[in-house]
Amino acid sequence: MRQDFKISYSRINLYLFCHYKYKLVYLDNIYVPISVDITFGRIIHKTLEQFHRFEKSNRDLLFECYNNSWRNDGFVNPQQIFEYYQRGKQMLENYYRSFKESDTEVLYVEKAFDTNIGKYKFIGIIDRVDRYPDGTYEIIDYKTHIKAWEPERVNEDLQLSFYAYACRSVFGFNPDKMSVYFLSENKKVYTIKSQIEISDVINVAINTAENIMAENFDPDVSKCQICDLKFKCKFFSF
Ligand code: SF4
Repeated sequence: MRQDFKISYSRINLYLFCHYKYKLVYLDNIYVPISVDITFGRIIHKTLEQFHRFEKSNRDLLFECYNNSWRNDGFVNPQQIFEYYQRGKQMLENYYRSFKESDTEVLYVEKAFDTNIGKYKFIGIIDRVDRYPDGTYEIIDYKTHIKAWEPERVNEDLQLSFYAYACRSVFGFNPDKMSVYFLSENKKVYTIKSQIEISDVINVAINTAENIMAENFDPDVSKCQICDLKFKCKFFSF
């Protein structure tokens, strides 16, 4: 195992999905096919990152950022490109309307952090951190799924607990609010993470890192049917 090993939410998530898949991706460098939804998500994230880096903002600027960020990789034909492009346009129209009505200050966008969990380096990128006029803070994670998750699923998701930890340890404040912003429906779903939940995910991170260091890469064949690497994996069988 490399000495410069770092843990991140996406690594932990992948390891928890299937330990062997983690090995294929991060140790064997097996290429994961880029799906259209991954490409689309990256385009929207890039658009909003560019947009919020400008001091003054307007609708035309947002769409200029969208056009600059657009890539065709992963789309299968011109019709699909057109459909996704239109979907993104509608998403951004709604986003811009809500943004103009909000009174928050966008403090950070696509903010990279580098900290520690136990003896391990922990890295990641937070989509957005806002500050409200009353001095409170909100962490926002963008999602571009067609349909918003139910609040229960947002509550169970580990990602925001990791970001709450990073916020406190890197930026020095506790987030007062945390939300997942489902851009397709222009809807934020809020969640609260208790100190116990945050401590629990820290333990998950440490256990995961220790298992990876111990080279525990057992396959989880119950996930094979939904795995995008199944055709490159020796454990997959029809
Ligand atoms: S095909 Fe199955 S065993 Fe192989 S990496 Fe995917 S989930 Fe794991």
